Amino acid sequence: MELSSRATSLTPSLTLSIDSKAKAMKAEGIDVCGFGAGEPDFDTPEHIKAAAQAALETGFTKYTPSAGILELRQAISEKFLNDNKLEYKPSQIIVSNGAKHSCYNTILAVCEPGDEVIIPAPYWLSYPEMVRLAGAEPVFVQTKEENGWKMTPEEFESAMTPRTKLVIINSPGNPTGSVYTRDELEKLGEVALGEDILILSDEIYEKLTYDDTEHVSIASISPELYNLTITINGFSKAYSMTGWRLGYLGAPEAIAKTIDSIQSHSTSNPCSFAQKGGLAALKGSQQAVGDMRAEFDMRRNYMYDRLSKIPNITAVKPLGAFYILVNISKLSLTSQNFADRLLSKANVAVVPGIAFGDDRTLRFSYATSMDVIKKGLDRFEEFCRTL
Ligand code: PMP
Repeated sequence: MELSSRATSLTPSLTLSIDSKAKAMKAEGIDVCGFGAGEPDFDTPEHIKAAAQAALETGFTKYTPSAGILELRQAISEKFLNDNKLEYKPSQIIVSNGAKHSCYNTILAVCEPGDEVIIPAPYWLSYPEMVRLAGAEPVFVQTKEENGWKMTPEEFESAMTPRTKLVIINSPGNPTGSVYTRDELEKLGEVALGEDILILSDEIYEKLTYDDTEHVSIASISPELYNLTITINGFSKAYSMTGWRLGYLGAPEAIAKTIDSIQSHSTSNPCSFAQKGGLAALKGSQQAVGDMRAEFDMRRNYMYDRLSKIPNITAVKPLGAFYILVNISKLSLTSQNFADRLLSKANVAVVPGIAFGDDRTLRFSYATSMDVIKKGLDRFEEFCRTL
């Protein structure tokens, strides 16, 4: 059977292959320490679950407007204003089946064959594939560890061609944990403005920043940048709601309309009762968000301290998200090779950096318990000594 070139151009997910191996080992009774998680290890807060349960019980089980219920879009509009100093009217907000869905819809709405999309590497692995699915071409900008894995304005500028349509900024970032400062975003913004390059700003890890690091939405910097930017966020990471599949974006009116149209012909509305849960998440107590952040912060400090004492590897202390990217280039193994050996010899699962476009690195997630972190780092340290 002939499959579409669109489908055959996709790269199989490397994160999933390590993950399935780790799961198979666990099923055999092997005590695997997993650092592969891409989701918080906490349960969704009770008041959010209760709101979705109440919605089910009262029969809120039918189609909603494809962009989401007005009440939720109003709450998101308030959230954007209060947290991000962004004025998006409810008509500029599209609720979706997750930030991933919002990213894909955005790329489909603005890119066409021949367009180029600039993606700083290491990157979240779905961006290039989404760009390819839209028939456009990803252009990678290799960022440097000494710059905190952040793209500089010069690097951005030199990656631009007349075909550049969009740049993807993900701050706080996966897999690097890096957070762009206001000043850095202003400078990147100037470059984008110079050529009217659209900006996809993926802010899904917004609530997870540490050491008093400020999260800045690039669209809030100036009205000109606001007009070029699609701001994407969601409930998965802040409220530990990954399985609910609920995200959203704010965009200039014309882009939002187009995205609504794409969504209305492909997936329609996000799950009705999940939307009621999302509403409770935004309107209710934010205590759980702070508690989770504090727990992540403690683990981050512990993990970074341990990793920074291991010879021949380096890491930048992350200021956001829940990952540490470890540079293993001195150990002369490819990231895949390293991750495979680490899993089979030391029962420790990490994600090889090749998945994120950087074969010199491994991603450690600290979205797991302190016990697992301690035990896994003991094993990792011992494994590195044997290399
Ligand atoms: N963007 C980034 C950078 C992510 O790491 C993730 C989740 N791994 C997403 C988007 C997707 O989030 P959601 O669950 O809301 O689709």
